[in-house]
Amino acid sequence: MALKREDGRKASDLRPMQAKVGVVPNADGSAIFTFGDTIAIAAVYGPKQLHPQHMQDPSTGILRCNYDLLSFSVSDRKKPGPSRRSQELSKMTQWALEPALDLEGFPNTVIDVEVQIIQADAGTRTAGINAAALALAHAGVPMRNLVCAVAIGKLDKDIVVDLDKSEEDFEGGEGPTDFPVAKLANTDQYTLLQLDGKIQPERVKEVLSFADESCAKIYEIQKKALKEALGE
Ligand code: UDP
Repeated sequence: MALKREDGRKASDLRPMQAKVGVVPNADGSAIFTFGDTIAIAAVYGPKQLHPQHMQDPSTGILRCNYDLLSFSVSDRKKPGPSRRSQELSKMTQWALEPALDLEGFPNTVIDVEVQIIQADAGTRTAGINAAALALAHAGVPMRNLVCAVAIGKLDKDIVVDLDKSEEDFEGGEGPTDFPVAKLANTDQYTLLQLDGKIQPERVKEVLSFADESCAKIYEIQKKALKEALGE
C-alpha cells in the first residue's frame, strides 16, 4: 500500500521552507530558516578575542555554538536555561558547521553562534544548522561552503524526509526513527550523521540519497536568501 503522510506530502517532500538573512540588527550576521512550523533564528558574533586567554588557539579561530528552545516554542512550556539536550545539540551544531569554516586567519579568536528555536515542530537541530550556516555567511566569515541539514526518518518501513512532530512520535510498525544529516552543499562530505531509533545497515544508502536530494533543495533556498540580501 502506498505511504500516506498526514499532511499529504510524498516521501521525498520537504515541508515549505523559508529563509532570510539579516534578521537580527545587533548581530554581525543573522538568519531565519523554517521547515513548516519549525522556526530557527541564528545570530553570529565575532570573530572576537577569546577569553579566558588559556582557551585561545594561536593557530586558528574557534567556533562556539549555543542551541536552545525558547520556553514558548513547544506546547508544554520548556523550562528556561540549559539542559542536557541543549548542550548535546549545541555541540553537534558546532561539529556540523566546523568543517565549512576556514578560521586560520583569525588566531586567538572565537566566533559565537546563537541558535534559538522560536517554534518547534521537529527538525529543530537541522533548521538551526541551516540558519547558522546562513548567518555565518552573512557575517562574512570565510567559508569553504554552505552547510545544509535535514532529518530523514522512517514511518514503519518507509523512509521519509523532514518529519514533523506527529511523524516523529509515530509508534507503529518498526517504531520511530530519526536520522539527522548535515553536509557541505553539493558534495559527498557529510558533517553530521545522527541516529535515534533503528535502521537496517543496508538502508543507510537509501537514507543518504534522500538526504542528498533534500539538501540540494535546501541549498537553493539558502542561496536565494543570500542573493536577496546582496540585492541581486
Ligand atoms: N520537543 C518538545 N520539548 C522539548 C524538546 C523537544 O516539545 O523539551 C519537541 C519539539 O517539537 C522538537 C521535537 O520534540 O522539535 C523533537 O525533538 P528532538 O530532540 O528529536 O530534536 P529535533 O527533531 O527538534 O531536532
